[in-house]
Amino acid sequence: MREEIARLMSLQAIDRELRELEQTLSSIAGKVDSLRQETESYRAELTRLSEEEQHSALERRRLEKEFAEGEARVRNKRMRMNQVRSDKESLAVSHELDALRENNQRLESELLALMESADPRAARLQELGALIEAKAAELSAAEKDIAAQVEDLKVSIAKQKVDRDLMSRDIAPPLLQRYEMIFSRRGGLAVSEAREGACQGCRMKLPPQLFNEIQKHLQIHFCPNCQRILYFDAAARE
Ligand SMILES: [Zn+2]
Repeated sequence: MREEIARLMSLQAIDRELRELEQTLSSIAGKVDSLRQETESYRAELTRLSEEEQHSALERRRLEKEFAEGEARVRNKRMRMNQVRSDKESLAVSHELDALRENNQRLESELLALMESADPRAARLQELGALIEAKAAELSAAEKDIAAQVEDLKVSIAKQKVDRDLMSRDIAPPLLQRYEMIFSRRGGLAVSEAREGACQGCRMKLPPQLFNEIQKHLQIHFCPNCQRILYFDAAARE
């Protein structure tokens, strides 16, 4: 039984290293992913604002044309005004002239609003261009940087997996399965020391009879509380 416990402990050491390697690998991949996402979101904003800019330019041309036509109409109406003969007709033309001027004023303020909104957009578009360039450079540097690191990690992980296979071959399959289940559910600690009458994994006091049995190492014992595999280390006793 001592041997089986020793094998389980070696397996646990390998599994913990593997877990750390895999976590490092995924955090490295995560950094690149988040850079990629940032770049993408800047690109999306750039596309959206460029489209807005195009629409705005079209709208501006339309308003400018309408405004120029409006001004021509006012000029014509003024000439007409000089030719009227009766007061009644003069009043009517004057009303028409007011309406035309009012319409021109509305067009003018729409044009101004359009121009005002174009300024911050142009600034942001310029800013986005620079941001995208910087992020893309950062991303490709990061990708180059981690490529080697990722390769090393993958090699280390593959080596550890070979060791793990060799080690687990000598452990009875039901015990191995139980170990694996506890390892994944209990934060990477499946084999725990029983010391001073308590499970060191969950700190629970063990029944004295169980603690005695563990010290004899005649069979594998589990913590009644956290289900971890328990062992007793005589050398650790003071
Ligand atoms: Zn426990």
